[in-house]
Amino acid sequence: MKSIKIKLMFLYLTLVFIVMIVSGTYILSSLKNQELNKINNEITNYALYIDEQIINELQSPENFQHGLESLFYSAKNNMQCSILNSRGATIASTSLPYEEYNNQSIIKAMQGEESFSYLKERRDDKLIIWYNYARRSQFNDSDYIIFIRTNAAFFLDNIYKMTFTLIFALILSLILAGAIGFLFASTLTGPIINLSNKAKEIANGNLKQKIIINSNDEIGELTLSFNHMTQKLDQTMQKLTTENNKLEIILQNMTDAVLYFNSDGQIMQFNYAAQNLLGFKIDKINFEDLTKKMGIKNNLSDYKNNFSLSYDETIIINGKYLNVNFVPCHNKNVLDGILIVLQDITKHKKLDDMRKEFVANVSHEIRTPLTTIKAYTETLLNGAIDNKDLALGFLNTINDETQRVSILAKDLLELSRFDNNQMKLEFALLNLSEILQKSIEQNKILYEAKNQTINFAQKGETYIINADANRINQVFSNIISNAIKYSPNETQIDIFIEQTSKYFRVYIKDNGYGIPKEDLHHIFERFYRVDKTRSRKMGGTGLGLSIAQKIMEAHDGKITANSKLNEGTTIILRFNKFKENADEQN
Ligand code: ADP
Repeated sequence: MKSIKIKLMFLYLTLVFIVMIVSGTYILSSLKNQELNKINNEITNYALYIDEQIINELQSPENFQHGLESLFYSAKNNMQCSILNSRGATIASTSLPYEEYNNQSIIKAMQGEESFSYLKERRDDKLIIWYNYARRSQFNDSDYIIFIRTNAAFFLDNIYKMTFTLIFALILSLILAGAIGFLFASTLTGPIINLSNKAKEIANGNLKQKIIINSNDEIGELTLSFNHMTQKLDQTMQKLTTENNKLEIILQNMTDAVLYFNSDGQIMQFNYAAQNLLGFKIDKINFEDLTKKMGIKNNLSDYKNNFSLSYDETIIINGKYLNVNFVPCHNKNVLDGILIVLQDITKHKKLDDMRKEFVANVSHEIRTPLTTIKAYTETLLNGAIDNKDLALGFLNTINDETQRVSILAKDLLELSRFDNNQMKLEFALLNLSEILQKSIEQNKILYEAKNQTINFAQKGETYIINADANRINQVFSNIISNAIKYSPNETQIDIFIEQTSKYFRVYIKDNGYGIPKEDLHHIFERFYRVDKTRSRKMGGTGLGLSIAQKIMEAHDGKITANSKLNEGTTIILRFNKFKENADEQN
C-alpha cells in the first residue's frame, strides 16, 4: 500500500463495489417484491374466481372436480389448485391423484386467515419449493378451503437470473473500474512519479532538471514550483561552487600551511604548503599523530574542555623554523574542529641571525682598531710623545688604524647603498681589457713589492660591455689585490678573457695559498675571512668580495671562485656582451 496509485485504485474499486452492492441489493429486492406482488395478485384473484365460479356457482362438492378441470387457467399459469373440505381432505384438484396437503397456510385458512407460505419438498430426488396460498370459503354453512400452490422455481429462477446478471454487472463494473482507475491513477500519479524521480536525481547532484508542465492544475503548479526551485538551487550551487573554488585556489596557493581537523581529530582539509613544509604524509594523519610528530604536547580533549586554549610557538621541523598556531573553532559552544596554521619563518630567522651576526661583526671590526688607537693615544699622552721616534711609530699605527676604520665605514656604506638599491651606476660602453689594464697598474706597487708578476694574456681584441667603469675597476682591483695578498712572493698571477656568444669571462688566477673546500662557498659573505689574522694583517675588511658580488649582480653579471688549497685560486667574472641592436630587439 506504499504507492498512491494502488491506494487510488483500491479506493476506486471499493467505491464501485459498495455502490454496486447497495444498488444491486436494492434493485434485486424491488424486483423480487414486484414479482411476488404480481404472483400474489394472480393467486388471490384466481382463488376469488374459484370461490365465485366454482364453489358458489356449482354449489355441490361433487361438481367441483369437473368445474376445476374445465378451468384452463391453472395449467396455463403453472398453478395447482385444490378444494379441500373443512377437515383438510382434498375434494377436488387440478393435480391428480389427490394429495394430502399439510402446511402452514392450510392451518391458518382453517382458522379463517388467508396466507402465503413456502414449503420444500423432495420429489424424485429433486427439490421443489412450493409457494402456497390458502383461504377459507363458506357456502351454505359448509366450509371449504381453496388451496393454490405453484412451483416457486418459476419466479425464483427469474430472481436467480437477475442476481446473476447483477453479479456479472458487478464483476464487469469492477474490471472496468479497475481499468479506468488505473488510467486515472496513472494520469494523476505520473507527474508525481516524474517529480519524485527528478528529485532523486537532484539529490544525486544532477541539478540540470526541468520537467515539462502538462496541466495547469495543482500538480502543474507543483511542477512549476519544482522547476523554479531547481533553477534557484542550481544557481545557488553554482555560486557556492565558484566561491568554494576561489577559496580552494586561495588555500592551495597560500605560502602558509593550513590544516583542519574535525572534533574527532580526523584531517578534513589541508593545502600543498602543509604537505611541503611538514615533509611527511598527512592525507590520513590524525591530530594526535601530527602533534606527536611535531613534538607538541597538545590533546584534543583539552580543546574540548577549555574554549580559550590556543597554541602559538616556533618549532623546528626538517631544519625549518615553523611558527605553529592552533586555533580551536567552536560552533554553538561545541568544538567543531581545530585549524592549524604553519608559517615558514626560516628565511626571517636566518635574516635575523645574519643581522645580529653582522652587527656583532661590525662592532668587533670597529672596536679592534679603536682599542689600538685609544691605547697608543693614552701612551702618547702619558709621556711617550716626548720620545720622538717612539711617538712617530705610534702615530703611524694610529694613522693606519684610523685608515682602517675609515675604509670599513666606506665599505659598509657602499654595501648598505647596494642593499637599499641606492647605488647609482653610470653605465657606459667600456673595453674590458682597458679596465683590467688600469686595475693591474693600480696594484703595481703591491705585486712588485712581493716580486710577483702579473701576466695578462691580451689577444688584441676589444671586449665591449655596458657598465660603470669605476665600479668594474673596483671589482678587478679588489680581486687582483686579493690574488697578490693571498699568494707568496715571487709567484705569477694570470689574467685572461674568454668569450662565448653571449658572455665575456675574465679569469684572475693566482698560484697562492688557496682556499679550503669548506670555506670556498662562504668567501662572498660579509666579514668572512678564511685566515682572519692574515687578512687583518693585509688590511682586509672582509667586505671586498661581498661588494664585488653586489657590483656584478647590479651589472647582471656573475662572480664565482675555484680554488685548491696550497695551489691557488681562480676568480671568474662573467659579463654580458654588449650587442648593438640588443635594445632595439628588446
Ligand atoms: P679581505 O678584505 O679579507 O680580503 P675579501 O672579501 O676580499 O676580504 O675576501 C674574503 C676572504 O676570502 C679573504 O679574507 C680570504 O681569506 C679569502 N680570499 C679572497 N681572495 C683570495 C685568494 N685569491 N686566495 C686565497 N684566499 C682568498
